[in-house]
Amino acid sequence: MREVVDSDILRQGSFEFIRIHEQSTYTLELFMAYDSIIIDSGNRDFVEKLVRAVRTHNQPDVYLKPIFLLKSSKVEDPLIGNLIDGVIFSINQLEIIADYVRQILLRINDFVFAKSISLEAEVISRIIYLMVSRDKNELFAYLYLNSGLGYVYPEASIYFTPRDEHKLLNVMKTAEIEGLFTSEFNDRIYLCTNCETGILSYREVCPKCSSANSKAEDLVHHFSCAYVGPISDFQNAIDDELNCPKCNKFLNHIGVDYDKPALLHTCNKCGHKYQDYHVKAKCITCYHDNDVENLIPRTISNYYLTKKGRNIAYHGFISTSKDFNEIPGTVKFDVFKTMLEYEVERLKQNDATSNIAYLKISNAGELYSRIGIDRQKTLVTEMIKILRKNLRSSDFIAFYNASTLILSLNEIPTKIANNVLDDVVKLTATLLKKNFRNIEIEIDHHAQPLNTELSHEIQLQNLIKKFDQDA
Ligand SMILES: [Zn+2]
Ligand SMILES: [Zn+2]
Ligand SMILES: [Zn+2]
Repeated sequence: MREVVDSDILRQGSFEFIRIHEQSTYTLELFMAYDSIIIDSGNRDFVEKLVRAVRTHNQPDVYLKPIFLLKSSKVEDPLIGNLIDGVIFSINQLEIIADYVRQILLRINDFVFAKSISLEAEVISRIIYLMVSRDKNELFAYLYLNSGLGYVYPEASIYFTPRDEHKLLNVMKTAEIEGLFTSEFNDRIYLCTNCETGILSYREVCPKCSSANSKAEDLVHHFSCAYVGPISDFQNAIDDELNCPKCNKFLNHIGVDYDKPALLHTCNKCGHKYQDYHVKAKCITCYHDNDVENLIPRTISNYYLTKKGRNIAYHGFISTSKDFNEIPGTVKFDVFKTMLEYEVERLKQNDATSNIAYLKISNAGELYSRIGIDRQKTLVTEMIKILRKNLRSSDFIAFYNASTLILSLNEIPTKIANNVLDDVVKLTATLLKKNFRNIEIEIDHHAQPLNTELSHEIQLQNLIKKFDQDA
């Protein structure tokens, strides 16, 4: 082992690259001081370990660092290939990559990093930071041996151990529901019912004792006497001729004298003879022997980042709407939309005013990272409680995102609705002050009357435009 020495610091223009060999001693934090990492090694395992360690580090200044491989051949491994930024064949090529490094670092400069409240939101935002900093739009699945699923998403699977990689499929499903990615079918896989990994060994087994130890032989049907039996009954020890054990006739032509209607399996363990075998899939990870009918089918998709997804890098991603679904007193956003549609219909028959409104914590990013994940949920839950106390049961509330609530305040004048929201904002601020010193909460709110001339969709969009602009 040797320390990083002066000759491992390579300068190109205003950039400093740090060169790492297999013998180097370093901490990952050391990389923060440099613009890019050059891995000088042809050892695949060493490279993978280092690349994974960098990309899964908790500091953006480490995990987004440009990485180049200095070696004499191309990278065939899809995991390494997608996690590094390129290969150079000599250090004289630093000049060529300097501009690319500059582009990556400039993009990262514009990012906003916010603390996510759930593992899902955390993984989604890290995938997006990595992709957007490289101007990538595609998150593809590659067939991969060292993976719990048999498929790897290089920029995403690294956050999971092989045993947990199936969880990524749910995370990506959530990301798609949130409109951050679109997807395209790639393949279908089947997972172990016990541990949800996908490296399985398929065997034909005895339906009685499940042993894979069996022999198979043709079943022979002699037309003239109708005898059916395994081919061994027709064979002799001397020549290849077949003679019927029932009528002793010589079997000449297949299709004319006899045919082979099926395969007959004989179990070497229990002696059972059978034509229809079972198929079992033994899990290489947990050894569970699955009936194939019960395996868990999952779709492997290729994903494409949407414009909304790309924007995550510039605003941060605190939570998925799923994280708030279970907060009592609120309905899901989809349900809210349906209820709003009914309310607009109802107003057409009534001469009343109902309102659509929002409450937005405008300093949510800063606030949430200061009070921490658990207390954030408590704060939001308390705020909903205050709201529910001040609203009527016919009013309904949904989370639009982690910092914004959408409300429908029914059958009250708009002015009163705004007053109610004003009170709720004040009560929430007081509550927060009581629990957290030196932390201010800033809440914007606005209520406007529902219009019976416009569809609920358009009115909702107009409202969203209003608070998205305020941001
Ligand atoms: Zn298993
Ligand atoms: Zn058997
Ligand atoms: Zn016969």
